[in-house]
Amino acid sequence: MPPSPPAGGVEAFRRELREWLEAHAPAALRGTWKGVFSGTWGGRRRDRTESADERAWREAMGSRGYTAPTWPTEYGGGGLDRARAQVLTEELRRLGMPAPLVGFGLVMVGPTLLEFGSEAQKQQHLPPIVRGEIRWCQGYSEPGAGSDLAGLRTSATLDGGDWVVTGHKVWTSYADLSDWIFCLARTNPQAKKQAGISFLLIDMDQPAIRTEPIRLISGASPFCEVFLDGARTPRDQVVGGVDAGWTVAKTLLQHERATLGQAFAGSVTGDEGDLVALARRAAGGGDGPLADGLHRDAIARIAMDERAFLLLARDMARSGRPGAESSALKVFGTELNQRRLELGVELAGPDALGWEGPGFDAADLARTRDWLRSRGNSIEGGTTEVQLGILARQVLGLP
Ligand SMILES: Cc1cc2nc3c(=O)[nH]c(=O)nc-3n(C[C@H](O)[C@H](O)[C@H](O)COP(=O)(O)OP(=O)(O)OC[C@H]3O[C@@H](n4cnc5c(N)ncnc54)[C@H](O)[C@@H]3O)c2cc1C
Repeated sequence: MPPSPPAGGVEAFRRELREWLEAHAPAALRGTWKGVFSGTWGGRRRDRTESADERAWREAMGSRGYTAPTWPTEYGGGGLDRARAQVLTEELRRLGMPAPLVGFGLVMVGPTLLEFGSEAQKQQHLPPIVRGEIRWCQGYSEPGAGSDLAGLRTSATLDGGDWVVTGHKVWTSYADLSDWIFCLARTNPQAKKQAGISFLLIDMDQPAIRTEPIRLISGASPFCEVFLDGARTPRDQVVGGVDAGWTVAKTLLQHERATLGQAFAGSVTGDEGDLVALARRAAGGGDGPLADGLHRDAIARIAMDERAFLLLARDMARSGRPGAESSALKVFGTELNQRRLELGVELAGPDALGWEGPGFDAADLARTRDWLRSRGNSIEGGTTEVQLGILARQVLGLP
């Protein structure tokens, strides 16, 4: 059972937490933090992907609800207020601990169920997410429906007690490793585009769902196509009401964009030191590219912009449920991440030319892969152009 919400002051909580972490944070994982998306993803196939230490860490943190620190305790969460959740983040960072669990359950479908789910849906789905037992993927995009998401053609019709879902999803990250899919489907073909869409939860463990991987330029392949050919899910697995899924879908996207923005904030330093060191190393110890004022200028600009971005991210983290402003965090974070990685590749010179195979330093390979991967940042979760449109209309009130 998760603990009751903590009593006492924030500093008393920090003391108690330190003691608990001292006893439960596996020594082998200390100092291995590599960014907010590093950690185990859980799921039914977790035994194949996580080490014994990672499992022990996920289970210990999950037993306290600390994999979802601010979720209510009745759904397995930690019940922490923002101040205590911040203390938890700080203490984990102090020890260099990786996240005990990451995934779309925690940052997308979970928060959305907390707002729109029925009591039965919360009871069924949230505790397994907290414990890392079920891994989720996002079935939004289709071959003809990306930015124009409301143009989606996957259909769902009622057959007795079940929805029967037929369609084709694309760019579905990690679908081949996931257990359940949250999926947008057209339930009323007569209604105006957005009005006839429902948000469905579907168990992927059935023959009517097939996934095919997609290979990317970076060499890795987290993406899949998902083919639903009469897939079934019980009629009570529709979230927020039949034909009323558009509002649910948009709220989930705001959580996704805020998470991406905060992830960028978790990986920037606001410090030019690593770029300077990279330039010196590439030059064999001398100033090398740093002799060029344009490079010095670009490094200083990135460090300054990152500091401003960190302040924005901190401010938005305090403001609670993300709204349309989450688009600003995502656009700014995307641009900074792409600029930093682009400059890193430029400074590294020929060392940045490979992304697999022998003859390259592991850090160089990782940087080049990260640079290639970052091209997708301005597309995933909604393109930068679409985010700028949202900001213009919904935040700035422009015509
Ligand atoms: C790394 C990554 C992970 C992803 N993971 C998932 C996932 O797990 N699940 C999922 O469902 N999808 C996922 N996607 C898909 C992603 O949501 C779509 O690629 C995205 O919404 C854009 O759709 P599209 O690719 O069809 O491009 P299109 O919508 O065809 O856009 C093409 C171009 O037109 C521009 N454009 C389109 N409409 C407008 C407009 N109104 N105003 C201005 N410009 C416009 C776009 O900005 C873009 O430059 C992922 C994508 C990436 C890159």
